[in-house]
Amino acid sequence: MKKLKIAANWKMNKTVAESSAYFQMFTAHHVYAEQIDVIICPPYTSLLTAAVELKGSKIFLGAQNLHWEDKGAFTGEVSAPMLKEIGVEYVIIGHSERRHIMREDNQQICHKLKTALQYGLKPILCVGETEEEREKGAMGEVIDEQILMALNGLEVEQVEELVVAYEPVWAIGTGKAALPEDAEGAAHHIKQVITKRFDASTAAKMCIQYGGSVNQDNISSFVQLPSVSGVLVGGASLDALTFSNLIHASGKAVSA
Ligand code: PEP
Repeated sequence: MKKLKIAANWKMNKTVAESSAYFQMFTAHHVYAEQIDVIICPPYTSLLTAAVELKGSKIFLGAQNLHWEDKGAFTGEVSAPMLKEIGVEYVIIGHSERRHIMREDNQQICHKLKTALQYGLKPILCVGETEEEREKGAMGEVIDEQILMALNGLEVEQVEELVVAYEPVWAIGTGKAALPEDAEGAAHHIKQVITKRFDASTAAKMCIQYGGSVNQDNISSFVQLPSVSGVLVGGASLDALTFSNLIHASGKAVSA
């Protein structure tokens, strides 16, 4: 049976008290399934609470970002050893909101990816085109550049560990998810880029997620796609019951 990685990106939502209430509700409803890795990425301030609430639950903890240096004069930043210390296992890198609002570029993303891997954090690398790039027919070109620059200098064994989330910018938070055939086309394209740059067995081992307005109703159509083996969920992960229903629906879809 296909193994899935379902990740929740809470973005800048939930106080510590709200996070704690969420985890109590979520862990009461969530039914563990061996074929689904669930990863929850709260804001930094809730990570420690999350680590305590999730202890023994088999739910993975993720951060939404990190800095590439391990310490120093970087006001407002958080480093990989700080995340590791509190039990973070995954880290989202290059989310479109960081690329477009915080002006992160592919070179910084490459540094972050290397640091994450060096500290044993599993990166979820986000790639995807804007609406304008899509209309120009530049989706492939944009993704190629984002992936090849991010992976520059990585060894093949490091690449196998990566999760790549295809997140078309126009689908994030808009309620306008990509068509499943377009998500499959992009995920397949990503596997081809990896095959050309590394090899087919590395591409086959990598997890490609789709992200962008995933909800309880459309998740099945994404997780069943041949090149997609997970989803990155923003808005629909903010409610504990909705998120646990969504995970349940994905499990049913892949075991049907
Ligand atoms: C995201 O934040 O990565 C995302 C996909 O958000 P949403 O599910 O709300 O579109």
